[in-house]
Amino acid sequence: MSDAVLEGLLFDGRTAAATAVRVTVASRVLQVTTPAGEPLREVLLHHLVVTDPFANAPRQITFADGAVVEVADGAALTAALAAAGERAGLVDRLQQRWPAAVASLLASVALLAGAYVYGLPAAARAVAKVLPSSAEGRLGEGVLQLLDGRFLKPSALSAGERRDVERRVAEAVRLAAPDVPYRLMFRSVEQRPGVNAFALPGGTVVLLDELVRRTDGDDRLLAVVGHELGHVARHHSTQSLLKAVGVGAFTTLLWGDISGQAASVPALLAMLDYSRAAEREADEDAVRFLHAAGRTAQPMFDALCLLADVGRQAGVDGLPKILSSHPNMDERLARVRDLGQLGEAGACPEPDPEPESEADGAACETPEAE
Ligand SMILES: [Zn+2]
Repeated sequence: MSDAVLEGLLFDGRTAAATAVRVTVASRVLQVTTPAGEPLREVLLHHLVVTDPFANAPRQITFADGAVVEVADGAALTAALAAAGERAGLVDRLQQRWPAAVASLLASVALLAGAYVYGLPAAARAVAKVLPSSAEGRLGEGVLQLLDGRFLKPSALSAGERRDVERRVAEAVRLAAPDVPYRLMFRSVEQRPGVNAFALPGGTVVLLDELVRRTDGDDRLLAVVGHELGHVARHHSTQSLLKAVGVGAFTTLLWGDISGQAASVPALLAMLDYSRAAEREADEDAVRFLHAAGRTAQPMFDALCLLADVGRQAGVDGLPKILSSHPNMDERLARVRDLGQLGEAGACPEPDPEPESEADGAACETPEAE
């Protein structure tokens, strides 16, 4: 077998230290060695959990004992797994098999119980990784129903406008993130400014009308979608949902009793308030997404400028988190400027003084950022 040798970092799951390792895949076995070639681990592929591929993002391989190997060249790992006969990804394959899906649901419930005892963040990460995509999809449906009943309104965009956006997004996704399952939904909100988008568990990406309007549906909108798809591929919303609504409400959502009072709208909106680290990852994904779709990082930078501007005009008091500005916007702008090597082009235009009425259409920022 012509096995590619991949560079990776091994985290043993007990300490924060990382060890440089080599990874090879051959005959459905993944082998981890030291750089000198001493064997460290040798495991059948179907005993591993691998994060979903996303453009050229690093992929993480999780072993049964909790150790993780991060392979920086995610695309090369995807190719090596494909060469070994692993197609869409181990998790996907597992999910297609009923007994495995049930086992994995049971594992999820066990982890949820563990979450009570051992603390939510770690359990949330673990659960989000093992949750079958069908269950994530159900969660996303439940959240969308709740938000539709109390927070979101139908989109006022024309069918033609929506189709244009769908077509442009589909073209870019085909090039840049063909393995990420997603579905676009269009909605509006009464609260202004509503310049925002967010991802729900399972891959639903909700675009608010004002975001589509303020970006003219151009590459800035693609950048925002790339950012949201990063959240999707990394299961950020599932993790945040678990942390935000607590285990009880999470299981309620999971088992389909969507009307349960346990999951309040504020709790669901809190779900969209991702950690700074999650935002950074999604921003990086957006830049990779744009590059893979044949663009520069400029539209991502410009989208963040728009959000910052909208947030400034709207003020943040009293707005739900997803509609308020990100405190770390300067940091995010700097990061995208560096990653995209934008240099001189990496400066936001002077804010437009807008008439009052417009500002109210614009407020929110955050898009997706979230
Ligand atoms: Zn985000």
